[in-house]
Amino acid sequence: FKAKEQRGSLSFFSDDLTASARYRLDLEQRLRYAIEHDELCLFYQPQWDVRTGELTGLEALIRWHDAERGLIAPGVFIPVAEQSSLIGAIGCWVVRHACQQMAEWLESGLDVPRVAVNVSPQQLHYHDLVSIVRDALQETGIPPARLEIELTEGVLMSSSIEPEVMLDSLRQLGVRLAIDDFGTGYSSLAYLTRFPLDLLKIDKSFTDDLLFSPEARAVVETIIVLGQKLNLTVLAEGVENSEQLDALSQLGCHQFQGYLRSRPLPIEEVQALLANLPH
Ligand code: C2E
Ligand code: MG
Ligand code: MG
Ligand code: MG
Repeated sequence: FKAKEQRGSLSFFSDDLTASARYRLDLEQRLRYAIEHDELCLFYQPQWDVRTGELTGLEALIRWHDAERGLIAPGVFIPVAEQSSLIGAIGCWVVRHACQQMAEWLESGLDVPRVAVNVSPQQLHYHDLVSIVRDALQETGIPPARLEIELTEGVLMSSSIEPEVMLDSLRQLGVRLAIDDFGTGYSSLAYLTRFPLDLLKIDKSFTDDLLFSPEARAVVETIIVLGQKLNLTVLAEGVENSEQLDALSQLGCHQFQGYLRSRPLPIEEVQALLANLPH
Protein backbone atom coordinates (compact mmCIF):
# COMPACT_ATOMS: atom_id res chain seq x y z
CA PHE A 1 0.00 0.00 0.00
CA LYS A 2 1.85 3.00 -1.32
CA ALA A 3 0.64 5.79 0.88
CA LYS A 4 1.60 3.84 3.96
CA GLU A 5 5.10 2.95 2.76
CA GLN A 6 5.87 6.55 2.04
CA ARG A 7 4.30 7.73 5.19
CA GLY A 8 6.85 10.43 5.99
CA SER A 9 6.42 12.36 2.80
CA LEU A 10 2.73 11.69 2.24
CA SER A 11 1.38 11.72 5.77
CA PHE A 12 -0.43 14.94 4.98
CA PHE A 13 -3.13 13.02 3.08
CA SER A 14 -2.26 9.41 3.79
CA ASP A 15 -3.84 9.69 7.25
CA ASP A 16 -7.15 10.27 5.57
CA LEU A 17 -6.52 7.54 3.12
CA THR A 18 -5.55 5.01 5.73
CA ALA A 19 -8.55 5.86 7.87
CA SER A 20 -11.05 4.99 5.15
CA ALA A 21 -8.94 2.10 3.89
CA ARG A 22 -8.68 0.73 7.41
CA TYR A 23 -12.42 1.03 7.88
CA ARG A 24 -13.06 -0.93 4.69
CA LEU A 25 -10.49 -3.53 5.57
CA ASP A 26 -11.97 -3.91 9.03
CA LEU A 27 -15.48 -4.24 7.65
CA GLU A 28 -14.27 -6.70 5.05
CA GLN A 29 -12.54 -8.84 7.68
CA ARG A 30 -15.54 -8.84 9.95
CA LEU A 31 -17.77 -9.70 7.03
CA ARG A 32 -15.51 -12.59 6.11
CA TYR A 33 -15.82 -13.78 9.69
CA ALA A 34 -19.58 -13.28 9.56
CA ILE A 35 -19.91 -15.50 6.50
CA GLU A 36 -17.87 -18.24 8.16
CA HIS A 37 -19.68 -17.99 11.49
CA ASP A 38 -23.26 -17.83 10.34
CA GLU A 39 -23.91 -14.22 11.26
CA LEU A 40 -25.82 -13.54 8.06
CA CYS A 41 -29.53 -14.15 7.79
CA LEU A 42 -32.34 -13.50 5.39
CA PHE A 43 -35.42 -11.44 6.06
CA TYR A 44 -38.34 -11.84 3.68
CA GLN A 45 -40.61 -9.10 2.39
CA PRO A 46 -44.00 -10.25 1.10
CA GLN A 47 -45.14 -9.26 -2.37
CA TRP A 48 -48.84 -8.88 -3.06
CA ASP A 49 -51.30 -8.94 -5.94
CA VAL A 50 -52.72 -5.42 -6.29
CA ARG A 51 -56.18 -6.59 -7.35
CA THR A 52 -56.81 -9.61 -5.14
CA GLY A 53 -54.51 -8.81 -2.23
CA GLU A 54 -53.09 -12.34 -2.40
CA LEU A 55 -49.49 -13.16 -1.57
CA THR A 56 -47.50 -13.60 -4.80
CA GLY A 57 -44.01 -14.07 -3.39
CA LEU A 58 -41.34 -13.19 -0.86
CA GLU A 59 -38.19 -11.18 -1.54
CA ALA A 60 -35.16 -12.40 0.40
CA LEU A 61 -33.21 -9.47 1.83
CA ILE A 62 -29.93 -10.06 3.57
CA ARG A 63 -29.15 -8.91 7.11
CA TRP A 64 -25.97 -9.10 9.13
CA HIS A 65 -26.19 -9.81 12.84
CA ASP A 66 -22.93 -8.42 14.18
CA ALA A 67 -22.21 -9.25 17.82
CA GLU A 68 -21.12 -5.69 18.61
CA ARG A 69 -23.12 -3.57 16.23
CA GLY A 70 -26.39 -5.45 16.02
CA LEU A 71 -28.33 -5.71 12.78
CA ILE A 72 -26.45 -4.19 9.84
CA ALA A 73 -28.37 -3.28 6.66
CA PRO A 74 -27.18 -4.49 3.25
CA GLY A 75 -26.74 -0.88 2.09
CA VAL A 76 -23.71 -0.75 4.42
CA PHE A 77 -21.93 -4.01 3.61
CA ILE A 78 -23.04 -5.10 0.15
CA PRO A 79 -21.06 -2.26 -1.51
CA VAL A 80 -17.96 -3.32 0.46
CA ALA A 81 -18.55 -6.95 -0.44
CA GLU A 82 -18.98 -5.98 -4.08
CA GLN A 83 -15.49 -4.56 -4.14
CA SER A 84 -13.98 -7.77 -2.91
CA SER A 85 -14.37 -11.44 -3.67
CA LEU A 86 -16.81 -11.67 -0.75
CA ILE A 87 -19.79 -10.89 -2.93
CA GLY A 88 -19.39 -14.25 -4.63
CA ALA A 89 -19.55 -16.08 -1.31
CA ILE A 90 -22.52 -13.99 -0.19
CA GLY A 91 -24.40 -14.54 -3.43
CA CYS A 92 -23.86 -18.26 -3.19
CA TRP A 93 -24.97 -18.27 0.45
CA VAL A 94 -28.13 -16.27 -0.34
CA VAL A 95 -29.25 -18.49 -3.22
CA ARG A 96 -28.68 -21.68 -1.23
CA HIS A 97 -30.35 -20.40 1.92
CA ALA A 98 -33.38 -19.07 0.09
CA CYS A 99 -33.82 -22.39 -1.73
CA GLN A 100 -33.36 -24.39 1.47
CA GLN A 101 -35.90 -22.18 3.22
CA MET A 102 -38.37 -22.65 0.37
CA ALA A 103 -37.88 -26.43 0.54
CA GLU A 104 -38.55 -26.35 4.28
CA TRP A 105 -41.70 -24.32 3.84
CA LEU A 106 -43.03 -26.58 1.13
CA GLU A 107 -42.20 -29.66 3.20
CA SER A 108 -44.07 -28.30 6.20
CA GLY A 109 -47.11 -27.60 4.05
CA LEU A 110 -46.70 -23.81 3.74
CA ASP A 111 -47.53 -22.97 0.15
CA VAL A 112 -45.09 -20.17 -0.63
CA PRO A 113 -45.69 -19.16 -4.24
CA ARG A 114 -42.20 -17.82 -4.87
CA VAL A 115 -38.98 -16.53 -3.37
CA ALA A 116 -36.94 -13.79 -5.03
CA VAL A 117 -33.21 -13.28 -4.48
CA ASN A 118 -31.02 -10.29 -5.34
CA VAL A 119 -27.86 -10.70 -7.38
CA SER A 120 -25.06 -8.16 -7.67
CA PRO A 121 -23.47 -7.42 -11.01
CA GLN A 122 -20.03 -7.85 -9.46
CA GLN A 123 -20.94 -11.32 -8.31
CA LEU A 124 -20.92 -12.52 -11.86
CA HIS A 125 -17.21 -11.90 -12.21
CA TYR A 126 -16.36 -14.26 -9.41
CA HIS A 127 -18.83 -17.05 -9.53
CA ASP A 128 -20.83 -18.83 -12.07
CA LEU A 129 -24.33 -17.82 -11.10
CA VAL A 130 -25.84 -20.44 -13.35
CA SER A 131 -24.06 -23.31 -11.66
CA ILE A 132 -24.81 -21.91 -8.19
CA VAL A 133 -28.51 -21.79 -9.05
CA ARG A 134 -28.45 -25.20 -10.72
CA ASP A 135 -26.75 -26.77 -7.67
CA ALA A 136 -29.15 -25.11 -5.23
CA LEU A 137 -32.17 -26.33 -7.20
CA GLN A 138 -30.75 -29.83 -7.36
CA GLU A 139 -29.81 -29.94 -3.69
CA THR A 140 -33.17 -28.74 -2.46
CA GLY A 141 -35.46 -30.14 -5.13
CA ILE A 142 -37.70 -27.05 -5.14
CA PRO A 143 -39.72 -26.36 -8.30
CA PRO A 144 -37.47 -23.96 -10.30
CA ALA A 145 -40.41 -21.68 -11.14
CA ARG A 146 -40.67 -20.86 -7.43
CA LEU A 147 -37.28 -19.15 -7.58
CA GLU A 148 -36.93 -15.67 -9.01
CA ILE A 149 -33.59 -13.98 -9.66
CA GLU A 150 -33.56 -10.18 -9.36
CA LEU A 151 -30.97 -8.55 -11.57
CA THR A 152 -30.29 -4.87 -11.97
CA GLU A 153 -29.98 -3.10 -15.26
CA GLY A 154 -26.25 -2.92 -14.57
CA VAL A 155 -25.98 -6.68 -14.90
CA LEU A 156 -27.62 -6.62 -18.29
CA MET A 157 -25.48 -3.78 -19.54
CA SER A 158 -22.22 -5.19 -18.20
CA SER A 159 -19.71 -5.74 -20.97
CA SER A 160 -17.63 -8.27 -19.06
CA ILE A 161 -20.29 -10.94 -19.07
CA GLU A 162 -22.52 -12.20 -21.76
CA PRO A 163 -25.93 -11.49 -20.33
CA GLU A 164 -27.77 -13.26 -23.12
CA VAL A 165 -25.95 -16.52 -22.53
CA MET A 166 -26.33 -16.25 -18.78
CA LEU A 167 -30.01 -15.34 -18.84
CA ASP A 168 -30.82 -18.02 -21.38
CA SER A 169 -29.08 -20.60 -19.22
CA LEU A 170 -30.94 -19.44 -16.13
CA ARG A 171 -34.19 -19.53 -18.03
CA GLN A 172 -33.44 -23.06 -19.18
CA LEU A 173 -33.19 -24.03 -15.53
CA GLY A 174 -36.79 -22.86 -15.22
CA VAL A 175 -36.26 -19.96 -12.81
CA ARG A 176 -37.99 -16.60 -13.22
CA LEU A 177 -36.06 -13.44 -14.03
CA ALA A 178 -36.84 -9.97 -12.71
CA ILE A 179 -35.31 -6.55 -13.28
CA ASP A 180 -34.86 -4.72 -9.97
CA ASP A 181 -34.97 -0.93 -9.57
CA PHE A 182 -36.27 -0.66 -13.12
CA GLY A 183 -35.96 2.78 -14.65
CA THR A 184 -32.99 3.96 -12.60
CA GLY A 185 -30.09 2.38 -14.48
CA TYR A 186 -28.38 3.23 -17.72
CA SER A 187 -30.47 0.87 -19.67
CA SER A 188 -31.59 0.42 -23.17
CA LEU A 189 -35.16 -0.63 -23.79
CA ALA A 190 -33.80 -3.00 -26.41
CA TYR A 191 -32.84 -5.52 -23.76
CA LEU A 192 -36.49 -5.95 -22.81
CA THR A 193 -37.06 -7.66 -26.13
CA ARG A 194 -33.73 -9.49 -26.19
CA PHE A 195 -33.78 -11.11 -22.77
CA PRO A 196 -36.21 -13.72 -21.46
CA LEU A 197 -37.63 -11.69 -18.56
CA ASP A 198 -40.71 -12.23 -16.39
CA LEU A 199 -41.04 -9.22 -14.12
CA LEU A 200 -40.18 -5.53 -13.90
CA LYS A 201 -39.82 -3.92 -10.49
CA ILE A 202 -40.64 -0.23 -10.58
CA ASP A 203 -38.07 1.51 -8.41
CA LYS A 204 -39.19 2.95 -5.09
CA SER A 205 -38.15 6.46 -6.14
CA PHE A 206 -40.99 6.49 -8.69
CA THR A 207 -43.48 5.14 -6.16
CA ASP A 208 -42.35 7.88 -3.74
CA ASP A 209 -43.12 10.62 -6.25
CA LEU A 210 -46.16 9.02 -7.85
CA LEU A 211 -48.75 11.22 -6.14
CA PHE A 212 -46.90 14.51 -6.46
CA SER A 213 -45.03 14.42 -9.70
CA PRO A 214 -46.81 14.14 -13.04
CA GLU A 215 -43.46 13.07 -14.51
CA ALA A 216 -43.08 10.19 -12.06
CA ARG A 217 -46.67 9.19 -12.72
CA ALA A 218 -45.98 9.21 -16.46
CA VAL A 219 -42.94 6.99 -15.97
CA VAL A 220 -44.89 4.55 -13.81
CA GLU A 221 -47.76 4.48 -16.28
CA THR A 222 -45.35 3.87 -19.15
CA ILE A 223 -43.59 1.00 -17.37
CA ILE A 224 -46.97 -0.61 -16.65
CA VAL A 225 -48.10 -0.31 -20.27
CA LEU A 226 -44.73 -1.61 -21.43
CA GLY A 227 -45.16 -4.60 -19.13
CA GLN A 228 -48.63 -5.27 -20.44
CA LYS A 229 -47.54 -5.08 -24.06
CA LEU A 230 -44.45 -7.23 -23.54
CA ASN A 231 -46.29 -9.67 -21.33
CA LEU A 232 -44.20 -8.94 -18.25
CA THR A 233 -45.52 -8.74 -14.71
CA VAL A 234 -45.03 -5.29 -13.19
CA LEU A 235 -44.42 -4.85 -9.47
CA ALA A 236 -44.14 -1.52 -7.63
CA GLU A 237 -41.55 -1.29 -4.85
CA GLY A 238 -41.78 0.74 -1.66
CA VAL A 239 -45.53 1.29 -1.41
CA GLU A 240 -46.07 3.05 1.90
CA ASN A 241 -49.63 4.37 1.81
CA SER A 242 -53.02 3.46 0.42
CA GLU A 243 -53.16 6.49 -1.89
CA GLN A 244 -50.13 5.16 -3.72
CA LEU A 245 -51.70 1.72 -3.91
CA ASP A 246 -54.95 3.17 -5.27
CA ALA A 247 -53.04 5.07 -7.96
CA LEU A 248 -51.08 1.94 -8.90
CA SER A 249 -54.28 -0.04 -9.03
CA GLN A 250 -55.88 2.50 -11.36
CA LEU A 251 -52.85 2.36 -13.63
CA GLY A 252 -53.11 -1.42 -13.81
CA CYS A 253 -49.99 -2.36 -11.85
CA HIS A 254 -50.04 -6.10 -11.07
CA GLN A 255 -48.13 -6.47 -7.82
CA PHE A 256 -46.61 -4.44 -5.03
CA GLN A 257 -44.46 -4.67 -1.95
CA GLY A 258 -43.92 -2.10 0.73
CA TYR A 259 -44.33 -1.01 4.31
CA LEU A 260 -48.04 -0.33 3.72
CA ARG A 261 -48.69 -4.04 3.95
CA SER A 262 -45.48 -5.51 5.33
CA ARG A 263 -41.85 -4.79 6.11
CA PRO A 264 -39.13 -7.37 5.52
CA LEU A 265 -39.79 -9.98 8.22
CA PRO A 266 -37.61 -12.40 10.18
CA ILE A 267 -38.36 -16.09 9.66
CA GLU A 268 -40.69 -16.57 12.64
CA GLU A 269 -42.87 -13.70 11.50
CA VAL A 270 -42.94 -14.92 7.90
CA GLN A 271 -44.10 -18.28 9.14
CA ALA A 272 -46.82 -16.74 11.28
CA LEU A 273 -47.95 -14.73 8.26
CA LEU A 274 -47.94 -17.77 5.97
CA ALA A 275 -49.83 -19.88 8.48
CA ASN A 276 -52.55 -17.24 8.76
CA LEU A 277 -53.12 -16.62 5.07
CA PRO A 278 -56.64 -17.41 3.83
CA HIS A 279 -56.72 -20.56 1.68
P1 C2E B 1 -33.80 -3.79 -3.26
O1 C2E B 1 -33.57 -5.17 -3.76
O2 C2E B 1 -34.35 -2.81 -4.22
O3 C2E B 1 -34.73 -3.98 -2.00
C1 C2E B 1 -35.71 -3.07 -1.61
C2 C2E B 1 -35.27 -2.32 -0.37
O4 C2E B 1 -36.32 -1.40 -0.03
C3 C2E B 1 -35.08 -3.18 0.87
O5 C2E B 1 -34.06 -2.56 1.65
C4 C2E B 1 -36.42 -3.06 1.57
O6 C2E B 1 -36.33 -3.29 2.96
C5 C2E B 1 -36.75 -1.62 1.29
N1 C2E B 1 -38.19 -1.36 1.32
C6 C2E B 1 -39.19 -2.20 0.94
N2 C2E B 1 -40.38 -1.61 1.07
C7 C2E B 1 -40.15 -0.37 1.54
C8 C2E B 1 -41.00 0.74 1.89
O7 C2E B 1 -42.22 0.69 1.77
N3 C2E B 1 -40.39 1.87 2.32
C9 C2E B 1 -39.04 1.96 2.45
N4 C2E B 1 -38.51 3.12 2.90
N5 C2E B 1 -38.20 0.94 2.14
C10 C2E B 1 -38.75 -0.21 1.68
P2 C2E B 1 -32.85 -3.40 2.23
O8 C2E B 1 -33.34 -4.71 2.75
O9 C2E B 1 -32.11 -2.50 3.16
O10 C2E B 1 -31.98 -3.69 0.96
C11 C2E B 1 -31.37 -2.65 0.25
C12 C2E B 1 -30.72 -3.16 -1.00
O11 C2E B 1 -29.62 -4.03 -0.68
C13 C2E B 1 -31.63 -4.00 -1.88
O12 C2E B 1 -32.45 -3.17 -2.66
C14 C2E B 1 -30.63 -4.77 -2.69
O13 C2E B 1 -30.15 -4.00 -3.76
C15 C2E B 1 -29.50 -4.97 -1.70
N6 C2E B 1 -29.60 -6.33 -1.16
C16 C2E B 1 -30.41 -6.80 -0.18
N7 C2E B 1 -30.23 -8.12 0.00
C17 C2E B 1 -29.29 -8.50 -0.90
C18 C2E B 1 -28.68 -9.76 -1.22
O14 C2E B 1 -28.97 -10.81 -0.66
N8 C2E B 1 -27.74 -9.75 -2.23
C19 C2E B 1 -27.41 -8.61 -2.90
N9 C2E B 1 -26.49 -8.68 -3.85
N10 C2E B 1 -27.97 -7.42 -2.62
C20 C2E B 1 -28.91 -7.37 -1.64
MG1 MG C 1 -34.53 -6.47 -4.89
MG1 MG D 1 -35.45 -2.81 -5.80
MG1 MG E 1 -34.35 -0.33 -4.70
